[in-house]
Amino acid sequence: MEKPIYPLKNLRITQGYQEGTHRNSYAIDNAGLNNEIEDVYAPFSGTIKKIYEEDANEVWLESNNPVEYPDGTIDYMTVLFAHDNDISDLYVGKKVAQGEIFYQEGTKGNAIGNHCHIECGKGKFIEPGWIKNENGYYVIINGKKPEECFWLKKDTNIIDDYGYTFQTLEDNSVEILEPEKEENITEQESTSDEPLLIYSCTKTGLYGIYLKENEQVFLK
Ligand SMILES: [Zn+2]
Repeated sequence: MEKPIYPLKNLRITQGYQEGTHRNSYAIDNAGLNNEIEDVYAPFSGTIKKIYEEDANEVWLESNNPVEYPDGTIDYMTVLFAHDNDISDLYVGKKVAQGEIFYQEGTKGNAIGNHCHIECGKGKFIEPGWIKNENGYYVIINGKKPEECFWLKKDTNIIDDYGYTFQTLEDNSVEILEPEKEENITEQESTSDEPLLIYSCTKTGLYGIYLKENEQVFLK
């Protein structure tokens, strides 16, 4: 069973829960080592359940299976991420593996300085994902403190944990997986009537390809 891992390598919380724009929520902001855009990895193997592009490119990731919380609770978990500037690679239904880099820090939605806003929710995703609290902020349903949801990896670089007590995994078994590199498809125009070979098939099977609008594919 997976233990949800803290989704950034450099743990530097710049705004804790229950303060400022995080009042009446368990939201945190993580700004990483410096002001650069840092990668955010999936805390567990999960599926994107909702994307909200009108504000801060919020993405809700639900665990595919129950996970082990640091206090021993076994339940599903849903995590809300915000501020990635470009989520054109994400879609509802996309599955990501635990440790896979799938999101980035950013400033989308009037954020000051590159960071990732993170909110944990206990249980499966519940429509519409968030509710307006008494301060007028939208917060994840069934919000729970981050230190009661995430485990730190042994090599998590703790710069500022804001005084929150996280538990650390005993081993570093969760590897961080770089996103799969896209196939290098030649973009040159075909100059003859000869079909352009873009992929040499070595094994008989059923293949799926992702095509953008107006893209063409030739098979030989
Ligand atoms: Zn925030």
